[in-house]
Amino acid sequence: MSKPKPVPRPAPESAPYWEAAKQHKFEIPHCNACGHYWFPPSASCPQCLSTDFAFTPVSGKGKVYSFVTFHRVYHPAFEQEVPYVVALVELEEGPRLLTNIVGVPVEQVTCEMPVKVVFDDVGDGVSVPKFTPA
Ligand SMILES: [Zn+2]
Repeated sequence: MSKPKPVPRPAPESAPYWEAAKQHKFEIPHCNACGHYWFPPSASCPQCLSTDFAFTPVSGKGKVYSFVTFHRVYHPAFEQEVPYVVALVELEEGPRLLTNIVGVPVEQVTCEMPVKVVFDDVGDGVSVPKFTPA
């Protein structure tokens, strides 16, 4: 018997991100005042503090900025997952986000590796954006 994985619990600021992901769309906040893209979502643009922004579709492409391979089971639900990669992916649009690299043996993951978004439907209507080699 494996335990269910914890699923994201959207905050008000990140709810649009998770709603888009549910439909396999990758959208991040984009400032209408200064053009800045950012992640994680927040109530105002971290560059100019404007609250005039919209969740905007982005390329879903980026590169591995940094990563770590987990070999130890820190949560029983991940027992079948080890080893797995947790990475900081730098999007083409600039922001970096914490995610998993999937669809490739962990020993083949490298910094600067080009990656693209994929969606992992984890149940309960939740889909988690992850990244795979482009
Ligand atoms: Zn701005």
